[in-house]
Parts: sequence; structure tokens; C-alpha cells
Amino acid sequence: MNNSFDEECDYLFKAVLIGDSAVGKSNLLSRFAKDEFCLDSKPTIGVEFAYRSIRVGDKIIKAQIWDTAGQERRLVVCDITRRPTFESLQKWLKELREFGSPEMVVVLVGNKSDLAQSREVNLEDGQRLAQLEQVSFMETSAKENLNVEEAFLQMINRIYEITCHKSL
Ligand code: GDP
Repeated sequence: MNNSFDEECDYLFKAVLIGDSAVGKSNLLSRFAKDEFCLDSKPTIGVEFAYRSIRVGDKIIKAQIWDTAGQERRLVVCDITRRPTFESLQKWLKELREFGSPEMVVVLVGNKSDLAQSREVNLEDGQRLAQLEQVSFMETSAKENLNVEEAFLQMINRIYEITCHKSL
């Protein structure tokens, strides 16, 4: 992990986390960028962004991620312990399709997978919606650091493929 913003990179990608309040957007961001988690984080007011440089093969890719709505919206998050936040995914997706570019990359994220006993959204629900919407779906836990890296990397890889027309 490299925290120097001025560090040389081969590509710079910007992406945004969207989803209902308290699904875990800020914590996914801080887990990915700083490997930190906060149990009683306050809802985000205003814009918060973080970045991280990742070496993939021989390329250094810098990912700049905002945790509020912006022009490029890509990681759409729900809380698997609150069904309504999952129902909202379709609303967010509809909005993205209306206002986003045709080449938009979307990864759906079911966060808080560590709270399996309170689960209100099955893995299959997420997978089915993702298939219907032709996007991908991953379950994550910002708390336990499960699949967070993978979710961001999946998004970054797709953006890279589309932007640079080849797979990493
Ligand atoms: P945001 O409003 O979407 O940015 O949500 P936050 O990141 O502020 O998280 C809202 C609450 O959920 C906070 O109390 C976090 O500690 C908690 N939280 C976030 N991610 C997880 C997770 O993966 N597991 C658990 N158990 N709690 C989480």
C-alpha cells in the first residue's frame, strides 16, 4: 500500500461508492485505502475520498474512490442484514442507467457478511439480481476484511479492460 498521492502511476481511475445510509460505504473505503475499520462511524456528510495505488502485473494503478454520489458511480453497496437496502439496489441501478455512460462499470456489493445470523439477503438474491442486471455481485465484510480487496479489484480490472481494451 502506498499513500503518496504524487507517486507515479500508469493509470488513474476514479470510482464512487453509492448505496443507502449506513450500509458500510465509508468503512469499505477506509478498509481498502488504509486497512482501518471503525465500529461507530458517523454517516458521511459531504464528500470523502481516499486513494490507493496498487501494482497489478507491471502497471501501477491508482484508484481514487469517493464514498458519495459523483459523476462516476460504480460500487453499489447494500447491507445484507437490512432487506430494504437490497431493494434499493435496483433503484440505484435504474438511476445509474439513466444518467451513466453506456460503458459504465458496476459491481454490486452485499456488505456486513460477518453478521450471518442477522442475514436478510441471501447470496442467491444478490447473484440473481446481478445476473439480471448483467453486473457482478460480491459479499464483503469491511469489519472482518473479507473480500474488500477483491470487490475493489474486480471493479478496477473491469475499468481497466474497458479503458485499455485488455485484461490484466
Ligand atoms: P455508510 O453510511 O454507508 O458510509 O456506512 P458506514 O461505513 O458509516 O457504516 C455504518 C455502520 O455499519 C457503522 O457502525 C460501521 O461500523 C458498520 N459497518 C460497516 N461495515 C460493516 C461490516 O462489514 N460489518 C459490520 N458488522 N458492521 C459494519
